Amino acid sequence: MQKRILVTGGAGFLGCHLCERLVAQGHQVLAVDNYYTGRRENLSSLLGQPQFEVMRHDVTFPLYLEVDEIYNLACPASPVHYQRDPVQTTKTSVLGAINMLGMAKRLGIPILQASTSEIYGDPDVHPQVENYRGLVSISGPRACYDEGKRCAETLFYDYNRRHGVAIRVARIFNTYGPRMNLEDGRVVSNFIVQALRNEPITLYGDGRQTRAFCFVDDLVEGLMRLMNVTEPLDGAVNLGNPVETSMAEIANLIVSMTGSRSQIVFRPLPQDDPRQRCPDISRAQELLHWSPRVPLREGLERTIAYFDDVLSKMHDPVRRVEVARAS
Ligand code: NAD
Ligand code: UDP
Ligand code: UDP
Repeated sequence: MQKRILVTGGAGFLGCHLCERLVAQGHQVLAVDNYYTGRRENLSSLLGQPQFEVMRHDVTFPLYLEVDEIYNLACPASPVHYQRDPVQTTKTSVLGAINMLGMAKRLGIPILQASTSEIYGDPDVHPQVENYRGLVSISGPRACYDEGKRCAETLFYDYNRRHGVAIRVARIFNTYGPRMNLEDGRVVSNFIVQALRNEPITLYGDGRQTRAFCFVDDLVEGLMRLMNVTEPLDGAVNLGNPVETSMAEIANLIVSMTGSRSQIVFRPLPQDDPRQRCPDISRAQELLHWSPRVPLREGLERTIAYFDDVLSKMHDPVRRVEVARAS
């Protein structure tokens, strides 16, 4: 059945991939975005298609539309971006959730929240299971994002209990892939762009901190399966690839895969940077019959190919020197 689907943050990294998949399934998709970190170019394959529409709007303000489903993704996700205007970050999470939940309540439709592994903070339970309550700083530089997302989750549970809104809460772990913003500041895009430019690879701290990286196609599949569950849901669902990697390992892997001459340089570890993170995805496996399929090396290959193409189209001067030298 064709549905009218609203994707907030639809011009962002995850949002644009999700919009493409939903349109490919035959749905009518409306992306809403204020272009804080997202770009219209991310949606270039969809612009002009009759099934797709994009609208500039800030979700901290009310929005009245008639749709059948909402994916609420609007919120900057990279520490560099969400810390640039911390108050706006919290407003986006909290007011954005209130407005989108208000819409879901009015229309009696399901709504999915893009929550995050950050709600576990710097976790002392490992791997993280959904019933772990987290170890989060209320005052540090990451709090605007972590606490904003925690409050958004609380709003979701309360709209469910009080107003019967059908909610889905996805706790998304680190996800990477083509169409991450070049200036995004997240580790995979930083390391790949630095490696392709033969610039120093900026490893923060001693590089022993871990993350688990999920390729974007897998993540989007997980989000769509979660939206489409038929039984009533209680609580959140972790979505991520449970293969834990240290930042030093990923730096070395990217240097070797790109054949780069970059050296690794050590930089201070940002305040409150989580030491370890890896999802327990048993709940998603059981409930959604979902597991990530794309191994890290394959996902990195596709991401490296994407950034290589972007840099060559930009006539990136550093990269051009290399190409000239090589030929
Ligand atoms: P992104 O920054 O690429 O996308 C976020 C999008 O939201 C952007 O297009 C941005 O312009 C838009 N936006 C920001 N504030 C807005 C506002 N007030 N009104 C309307 N639009 C606004 O980040 P992403 O990686 O695509 O993340 C998407 C969602 O998934 C976010 O909610 C993020 O917290 C969540 N998430 C992502 C990851 C990840 O690894 N990518 C991990 C955990 C959670
Ligand atoms: N809202 C919205 N779109 C809608 C319905 C509601 O943006 O389609 C906003 C509305 O402006 C309100 C918020 O969502 O600020 C919460 O709505 P709700 O009905 O839960 O709260 P109330 O209006 O009763 O305060
Ligand atoms: N990181 C790094 N170099 C960079 C960017 C990030 O070593 O150029 C580290 C960062 O300190 C963190 C990890 O990589 O330990 C993941 O950072 P990212 O910003 O991608 O995501 P998050 O910390 O939100 O998981």
